[in-house]
Amino acid sequence: MASKLKAGIVGATGMVGQRYVSLLADHPWFEIATVAASPRSAGKSYSEAVGGRWAMPRPMPAGVAGLTVKDASRVEEVARDVDLVFCAVDMPKAETRELEERYARAETPVVSNNSAHRMTPDVPMLFPEVNPHHLQVIAAQRRRLGVARGFITVKPNCSIQSYVPALHPLREFGVDKVFVCTYQAISGAGKTFKDWPEMVDNVIPFIGGEEEKSEIEPMKVWGSVEGDRIVNASSPTITSQCIRVPVTDGHLAAVFVSFKKKPSIERILELWKSFEAEPQKLSLPSAPRPFLQYFAEENRPQTRLDRDAGGCADDGRAAGMGITIGRLREDRLLDYRFVCLSHNTIRGAAGGAVLTAELLKAKGYLSAK
Ligand code: NAP
Repeated sequence: MASKLKAGIVGATGMVGQRYVSLLADHPWFEIATVAASPRSAGKSYSEAVGGRWAMPRPMPAGVAGLTVKDASRVEEVARDVDLVFCAVDMPKAETRELEERYARAETPVVSNNSAHRMTPDVPMLFPEVNPHHLQVIAAQRRRLGVARGFITVKPNCSIQSYVPALHPLREFGVDKVFVCTYQAISGAGKTFKDWPEMVDNVIPFIGGEEEKSEIEPMKVWGSVEGDRIVNASSPTITSQCIRVPVTDGHLAAVFVSFKKKPSIERILELWKSFEAEPQKLSLPSAPRPFLQYFAEENRPQTRLDRDAGGCADDGRAAGMGITIGRLREDRLLDYRFVCLSHNTIRGAAGGAVLTAELLKAKGYLSAK
């Protein structure tokens, strides 16, 4: 069997970083070679640096606990030991943008959860089931950066991970107007109830920058590659409200939608049921089956019951990678309404990025240095 690619996790001590550590601990294609974080953690063992912050359901993998955390800003030191990096850091945008470019210029592919490069026209914002064809713009990005093997890909924001996949198979009917209200878990802010007690028994009707991302990012995901850039789609028109709710994991969305040519409910259900995309066709290790799961029960999906959907593969690797949908019905203002759910730190963050890396490897964009 071919040897595994060496992965670095930049921001490894944070909420998303810990997910990477959990998901990559026994991955068939990647192994964790290096962990990096801020100068506060650098020089400590991973277990010491994380301390009481470990928030994953499984214990910290023994092979990672003893790794010495590197300073993420010492790019050459991190890059020399790895074939790619996964990046999830809490830093000002301009600094994140610069850090990611430094890794790419050090000939190290970057798979990022950060928003800094999401709107850079030659950086694919990948949803492996929706826009795998955007990978072709990497050639132009490499020319701009003057590199042979480095590049940056980013993940879209966690708030759009349930409704973009649900709407995607319906685009043939001209998705025209979308109103969406998201109910977002506290792990989306990198928090648990222990360090955010104000969220117990509470709802906060504001998440900084989230509504803008929810409305704009789908347009790039549905955009087309023209020359050396991705040009955003011009429809649908999306309007959103994003609300923080007292849930550990799982972002739920209530969606109202109108079409240029209204499909029947039966046709929508058929399209959701039969939707198979590139990751499923390529049998990527983290590809959920099914990708979209519809519940006939009127009280589903529920965050606690359904956020881990998708893990039906033998090893359960894709748990939390599936999207669940329910309550499709006629609407009095637009055509239809429904509810959908995704796991924000798995599908919406680290899991989605691991699936992106699997797609990149399957398509020949990643190799051993
Ligand atoms: P977090 O729990 O606050 O973790 C932040 C990480 O960034 C830690 O590893 C921290 O290291 C590191 N960091 C902070 N300042 C740094 C610096 N100057 N240099 C290098 N590393 C630094 O945040 P998170 O929730 O994991 O989010 C990380 C990123 O992923 C953010 O851009 C966020 O928007 C994005 N994201 C999060 C989610 C989610 O569901 N949580 C979903 C999608 C995207 P120390 O421990 O050393 O401070």
